[in-house]
Amino acid sequence: MSLNPQRTIDELKELRALTADENGAQRVAWTDTWLKARAWFASKLDGLPVEHHFDSAGNRWVTLPGASEKALILGSHLDSVPNGGWLDGCLGAMAGLEVMRRFANEYHGRPPVTIRLVDFADEEGARFGRSLLGSSAFAGTHSIAADRVRVDKDGIRLDDALKRCGVDIDRFPDAGIERKNAAAYLELHIEQGPVLESWNLPLGVVLGTKGVERHTIVFHGQEAHSGSTPMKARRDALAAAAKLALEIRTIAGRHPDAVCTIGSVKTFPGIVTAVVGRCEAALDQRDLDAGVLAAMYTQAREASERFAREEKCTVEWARIWNIEPIAFHPELIDRCEQAVDEIAGVAHRLPSGPLHDAAEVSRAGIPTVMMFVQSLQGISHNKIEDTKEEHLALAVRALDRLADKTVEWINSRG
Ligand SMILES: [Zn+2]
Repeated sequence: MSLNPQRTIDELKELRALTADENGAQRVAWTDTWLKARAWFASKLDGLPVEHHFDSAGNRWVTLPGASEKALILGSHLDSVPNGGWLDGCLGAMAGLEVMRRFANEYHGRPPVTIRLVDFADEEGARFGRSLLGSSAFAGTHSIAADRVRVDKDGIRLDDALKRCGVDIDRFPDAGIERKNAAAYLELHIEQGPVLESWNLPLGVVLGTKGVERHTIVFHGQEAHSGSTPMKARRDALAAAAKLALEIRTIAGRHPDAVCTIGSVKTFPGIVTAVVGRCEAALDQRDLDAGVLAAMYTQAREASERFAREEKCTVEWARIWNIEPIAFHPELIDRCEQAVDEIAGVAHRLPSGPLHDAAEVSRAGIPTVMMFVQSLQGISHNKIEDTKEEHLALAVRALDRLADKTVEWINSRG
């Protein structure tokens, strides 16, 4: 039996029927529905010449031993956000399984290199607010002390939720053993954005994941009566913040893929009869280039100081979180472009705004690339998330083609 992309589509529908309700997918990590999805996935391995086990962080590893111990890893995640879509994560896992089946069949159970499939635990961080949990344990970039005490909305601690699923957070570092012999990592994912659809392209080659700078910006002015304070005498903190909210569009607009967002603004005292004395804004800036990201941060900061002066206010910044941009492997990007071009007849390179497990794998020093398939209307983390079935089939075929090219590449490196 050769590659059967229709089987992947059918299996994704089967998984949806098993783990979604009228509001969408409910495979939130460390819940019973997620465990049900994982048990279903294991049932799909019956009859394949593979070994499978969970590592100490709860990531499932499926191994098809090859002539060489060097391993090509295919992967993604089966967990979802609450009320999620039918493709986010599980597309990459099920497509990876189909490619593994093809290797097992074509080489009578013994491909030229070892083929591994991973279902990373808790990519979404939907319950505890900690994304990429399993893949960070694999990569050795985990943060156990900070993570164990996280609580969900019911007050259950992260380490207790993991224990219920047989995972001991203190043993997370042991997951690093799975990095042994890892030669390359490939991940297929839905784009979750509108770029490919806007270009009318089914598939895209992902250059890397954007770095993020996230800050709280507080403007301080003077609370004053709305009726008695002349316009010229005001120290309006919201006016300064509003100027910045417009300026970040200019700052991001200087770079083709950069994005800047002020997603939250709070005013104090926040009543209609007072000039705003204090305004707190949250700024998120992203780009694939560390230099661009640093420049955008500096420009936003300088602009905020200028606007504060203009409005007779002061401003202070505090970093909420940041992560560096992760560039994928240039030679695998080239091979991904060839595979996409051969299957779809056209290829386009784009960065990823969202983070993915592939970013953690890449941070571990393993050559990595991702492939995106078009998302209809760019919508994800929503039950209406969708992709045309013909595009899903192309994606499975292109991933399979890329896997072949990557096996050749692994072998050529000696
Ligand atoms: Zn995902």
